[in-house]
Amino acid sequence: MTKSNIPLALPDLTGNEEQYVVKAIRSSWISSTGPFVARFEAEFAAACGTRAAITVCNGTIALHLALLALDVKPGDEIIVPSLTYVATANAAKYVGGIPVFADVDRQTWCLDPKKVQTAITERTKGIIAVHLYGHAADMDEINAIAELHGLWVVEDAAEAPFATYKGRRTGSLAKIGTFSFYGNKIITCGEGGAITVSDPDLEARMRMIRGQGMDPRRRYYFPITGYNFRLTNVACAMLCAQLERYEQLVERRLQICALYRNLLRDVPGIGMQKPAGWAKTSPWLFCITIDTPEFGRSRDQVMTMLAEQAIETRPFFIPLHSLPPFRDRARADGSDLLVTEELGQTGLNLPTYTTMSDSDVRRVCEALMDTRRRITGYNTRRA
Ligand SMILES: *Cc1c(COP(=O)(O)O)cnc(C)c1O
Repeated sequence: MTKSNIPLALPDLTGNEEQYVVKAIRSSWISSTGPFVARFEAEFAAACGTRAAITVCNGTIALHLALLALDVKPGDEIIVPSLTYVATANAAKYVGGIPVFADVDRQTWCLDPKKVQTAITERTKGIIAVHLYGHAADMDEINAIAELHGLWVVEDAAEAPFATYKGRRTGSLAKIGTFSFYGNKIITCGEGGAITVSDPDLEARMRMIRGQGMDPRRRYYFPITGYNFRLTNVACAMLCAQLERYEQLVERRLQICALYRNLLRDVPGIGMQKPAGWAKTSPWLFCITIDTPEFGRSRDQVMTMLAEQAIETRPFFIPLHSLPPFRDRARADGSDLLVTEELGQTGLNLPTYTTMSDSDVRRVCEALMDTRRRITGYNTRRA
């Protein structure tokens, strides 16, 4: 009997998503004006603890819009982690900025404030802190460094909506927060994104840039060059339905990750992200690291063997400083990115989605441990 496929991620659209999308279509409000846009922006801001939220086409554009509003100039340096999705550093390049990579903390896998400090030069203008895999970065430390050097801070919260840092929600911990609603993220509308902001001037500026630069008091008058970065009412209909259930969705992800942790805790050679005392996570993809000598298999061997059991996994992000668009710059900096490099080589994402069952999680863990038993048996026979 062939086993059913366990994908890495699946959207959970089992609430009012379909009903609201149909409602949006029947109302004819299918572009970026309409009641679901306003409703989602108000409710998402409330959930994040900010004064406002602005929807945009995707999470990459949310970062791009933030950097446009912060007036990044060609040659400005922006400190970012190297262990992140490529969008974080791409956004810096869209506005002519130079991404400068800082290493991550060995426990939380988010920016190490000490490494941020040493990456600062007289050309540094800001920091993009990424809340990796659902865990908030050490924002008080990062904000304190930023304040000392007159830098702005943006939170890339694409992977961690509703996570908290010392009781405060991600998106409310810096000047601007950015989010992604791609199909595999914690809440989704297929392709979508948002910005959270509390400063009214910054909010107005970002709304203006998002809407082609149009003057809000004078229709079809464009005092600046803007973009069309708007999200549709149809997409926001889906997001309103997702947001109605966000506490449930996060809770189920926490349960899945707790079960993974319990089942894998004592397996030699498997490491996990260690949530800091101040963090309440909102888990995106469950992660492990594989210490090859101890586990008996390399990360890539494990991935292949799990794929043979119809279990989809994903390696960690390839550290951005090793990719062609960023490579030379990172070398010139003599970057010290040892933790990032180690995680990039050993890290693995396991299937994580709210509609997976506890027995699916058990099947993944058993298959994972089985990859190890097979090598142990082999070694025993040889010895
Ligand atoms: C998903 C993601 C993004 C970008 O999101 P898109 O909606 O795919 O453009 C940005 N940063 C991080 C860290 C992400 O994980």
